[in-house]
Amino acid sequence: MPGNNFDLEKGVYQAYKKDFQNGVVTVGNICNANCFFCSQKWNPPGVVQDLKRFLTIEEIGHFSRRYLKKVACVGSALHVNSGEFFFHPQALEILSMLAPLRNLNGVLVFTNGKILTEKHARLFKKFGLTPSLSLSSADYISQNIAARGNYFNRSAFGNSLSLLQKYKVDYSIWIVPSKTAFESGKLQKIINSLINWGVKTIIMHRPGYTRFTPKMVAEELSIADASLLDFVAKNQKRGKADIVFEVPEIQELLLQLHFAVRQLLKMKRIANKKKLFLCPVPIEKKLSLVLSTLKIENYKIQSVKAEVFGGNVDCAGLLLIKDYITAIDQFFNSHHAWVPEVMILPQRSFDINLEDLSMTPARTLEEKYTTPVILA
Ligand code: SF4
Repeated sequence: MPGNNFDLEKGVYQAYKKDFQNGVVTVGNICNANCFFCSQKWNPPGVVQDLKRFLTIEEIGHFSRRYLKKVACVGSALHVNSGEFFFHPQALEILSMLAPLRNLNGVLVFTNGKILTEKHARLFKKFGLTPSLSLSSADYISQNIAARGNYFNRSAFGNSLSLLQKYKVDYSIWIVPSKTAFESGKLQKIINSLINWGVKTIIMHRPGYTRFTPKMVAEELSIADASLLDFVAKNQKRGKADIVFEVPEIQELLLQLHFAVRQLLKMKRIANKKKLFLCPVPIEKKLSLVLSTLKIENYKIQSVKAEVFGGNVDCAGLLLIKDYITAIDQFFNSHHAWVPEVMILPQRSFDINLEDLSMTPARTLEEKYTTPVILA
């Protein structure tokens, strides 16, 4: 394979190449934590690639120089499982190597915040990186927060917060809420502690699980979106920190759909064509509302289930070509007389190379159904 002089299998090399092309600086999947909810443990086998080690700094230099045009984020991953960026023994050297190559100012760097030191905080400030610290509810549900006052005072996480504040680094906190923490009130205590600490931005992650997730883990991650939205809204009213839920509220979602459909309307070549809209299940009714409001004609909607991931996954970003094929076949089985002339899919399901998470290109659908595909 061109360019691969490293000990990387073809599929793994391709996956890292594509992550760097997408601006995602990812360094391997070793982690110093063992979060019970870690999605990487329960991904469908074979969808994302697994390296089972860290990339060497030479490999990272290779991918960065050859494929990284612009940095979107550091320490996350698309097509590969990722670990803890700062657990890489040369994490700081990697950042120092990247900074002269590509602009890091304002770039998000994901970390579990367990091992940050003065050196890290200084480098964040120097390069303008914006750390996003993921606070694992697995850590905090076992603690008696009330007895310890501010839980973070004596934790490694608290130490990281102090350092970021000392060096005036902009940062945000991501929380994966667990059912136990939510129902016992510990999540509220954690939010209180963070607010008292002076944290300005808290993002409530939507807990997710796949059909491969063990039942007990899935149950711990089963909190209704409406309950979390309500929780976030109540805390927002206290007005001390910007607390947001990862899933957009209905009004915001409708606005986004309006915008996407209006952009589509500008494409004159599809105006009179029979349009098949494919969308994630939770979006179907909202999309229907937007299409009728905008007086779109000649269309049908087919919802698409995340069959490959399963579980509570229902976002467009985790829909694969395989899911679209299942949905399109269902549509054809029930609509024999109505043949679409164009299929419209959410852009979110595809990366910069127009490929899904399993690196299958969107054009697979055009070839299979001989129908043009538009991503919106
Ligand atoms: S810190 Fe992230 S990568 Fe590590 S175990 Fe937890 S969720 Fe997984």
